[in-house]
Amino acid sequence: MKKMTCRALGGPCDAEFTGDSFQEIGEKSHNHVMAEINKGDAAHRAAAEKMRNAAPDELKAMMETFQRRYDDAPEV
Ligand SMILES: [Zn+2]
Repeated sequence: MKKMTCRALGGPCDAEFTGDSFQEIGEKSHNHVMAEINKGDAAHRAAAEKMRNAAPDELKAMMETFQRRYDDAPEV
């Protein structure tokens, strides 16, 4: 199992997520961002909008960066 932070996935805080796959951590991160937005957190809203507004090649580059960070993340 690996551990990543919200920040490592393009978010604004140091919340930590664990998972056995990049997809699992991505889902937890997504749920966390949605929960923060629902609480009215502007920083998470801005991060989500940045991803939503990214061009396809920008989004692809972001996902590759996050995937690489996942690959480099420590086993926990
Ligand atoms: Zn966060």
